[in-house]
Amino acid sequence: FPSALDMFEAGLAADPDGVAIRYFDGVITRKELDELSDALAVGLLDRGFQPGDRLAVYLQNVPQFVICMVAAWKAGGLLVSINPMSRERELTYLLGDSGAKVLVALDDLYRDVGTNVVPDSPVELVLTTSGLDYQTRNDPRLFDGQRIEPGEGAEDFAAFIDKYRGQQPPPVELGLDDTAFLTYTSGTTGVPKGAMNTHRNVVFTAMVYRDFVRFQPGGEIFGIAPLFHITGLIGHIAISLLAPMPLILAFRFEPAVVLDALKEHRPTYTIGAITAFNALINHPDFTKDAFSSFTSVYSGGAPISPSAERAFETAAGIQVQNAYGLTETTSPMTANPFGAQPPVDETSGALSVGVPVPSTVVRIQGEDGADLPLGEIGEIVAKGPQVVAGYWQKPKETAEGIPNGSLHSGDVGFMNEDGWIFIVDRKKDMINASGYKVWPREVEDVLGEHPAVLEAAVVGVPDEKRGETVKAFVSLKSGASTTPEELIAHAKQRMAAYKYPRELVILDELPKTVTGKILRRELRE
Ligand code: ATP
Repeated sequence: FPSALDMFEAGLAADPDGVAIRYFDGVITRKELDELSDALAVGLLDRGFQPGDRLAVYLQNVPQFVICMVAAWKAGGLLVSINPMSRERELTYLLGDSGAKVLVALDDLYRDVGTNVVPDSPVELVLTTSGLDYQTRNDPRLFDGQRIEPGEGAEDFAAFIDKYRGQQPPPVELGLDDTAFLTYTSGTTGVPKGAMNTHRNVVFTAMVYRDFVRFQPGGEIFGIAPLFHITGLIGHIAISLLAPMPLILAFRFEPAVVLDALKEHRPTYTIGAITAFNALINHPDFTKDAFSSFTSVYSGGAPISPSAERAFETAAGIQVQNAYGLTETTSPMTANPFGAQPPVDETSGALSVGVPVPSTVVRIQGEDGADLPLGEIGEIVAKGPQVVAGYWQKPKETAEGIPNGSLHSGDVGFMNEDGWIFIVDRKKDMINASGYKVWPREVEDVLGEHPAVLEAAVVGVPDEKRGETVKAFVSLKSGASTTPEELIAHAKQRMAAYKYPRELVILDELPKTVTGKILRRELRE
């Protein structure tokens, strides 16, 4: 496909009356998605949107997200996806850095955050919308039933589209090297950077999902990951456009709502962080049939331990597959191919994240940049059609992080003799205890094997004698009980003396990002 828009158009031509999106009791067919995005694109052009302009979305998992993406492309521009958890400081930065001309926001997010930020931003047009649109059900677990008027400086999204209904935008020239979206890194290591995911990146990764991860024809995708994140943008939206397959959305990840939606819609495929799957199988409303319609369940975006994989399989009756990638690789760069059972490394106990996807070179590099022999641990570096073109208006950061198109992941790992990749951990999270290297992942995996443990996170804390010492935080399964002493003893029995945690704290819940990643940084602080 010459662009991701052509990918959508091929799916449309194949089955115009097929379902594009299910949202509670609302249904949008591909033809309707085409008409809605046509009208929005015409409206954008009418209001001065130019080729290469940016349309920012500040939305939860709602159909409007997909309409905006297709419309931005039809108008010759690109999408900027903004985490709906962003507050004033972050939104100010993201709108300013991306130079977004249009903002489409959820009504309450605009009222609470957007109104204070937009007047001093480059945004010229604001459209607000509600999570209640495109459905008729008011689920009190998610919505209070009230639509909020657009407010000063904004227009209503649906009314804006209605003005241009029935009109079509002029044909657009999009190429594989054009940017399809800007996805921002979270900024844990400096200011957030806008990764430029090109149409090539998007088309390629969507095809990887279709042909390498392999879906069963006739299925439906459940959108468990947030759409603003690369996992949702590609693993949900892009593949639903390409396959084409219906995409089921449920506003945001609320376990009880998600469990109801799984029963109602009977999807066949999803990809999300293991922490989300954990939350589902440990929820009081969980029943064994929740996942019985699925033919594949993928975990991506965060590490998965063999014990978490086993727990999910026992509870849900289906194995979780693993895919590994970053925002900068438009996810994924490695995956379990064709539903293959990933091996577990005998020494570290880590579960493989798969093999490099087609046309992708994954290298394990030492400190000097030279390739390391198989089995040795070094930084994971990837080059292929999914690696982003660079960071938006940041040539210095691009040259440092993606020299010659090779993405330096910041993750350390190794490759076994059969080409399976294992991630050891994030380079910067290594703990140096009396000169011994301790990788938090390994300790977390051992703690996760204890029957009472739901999730574990391990960090290094300053220690007078050892420089750094190993400290663990765990949350427990509902109804389970144990003590820090018992958990420390469990780890001590199973690992070398320098590795087991010297301190351990039991928390009700571990802090996480909206993408389901456990925040070691916050625990360290
Ligand atoms: P930021 O770079 O913005 O601080 P981030 O690193 O979490 O945040 P993402 O692109 O969302 O940004 O996540 C990529 C990281 O997630 C990888 O570098 C890796 O550490 C982790 N990751 C992704 N998939 C997997 C997986 N299957 N197994 C283990 N870790 C994974």
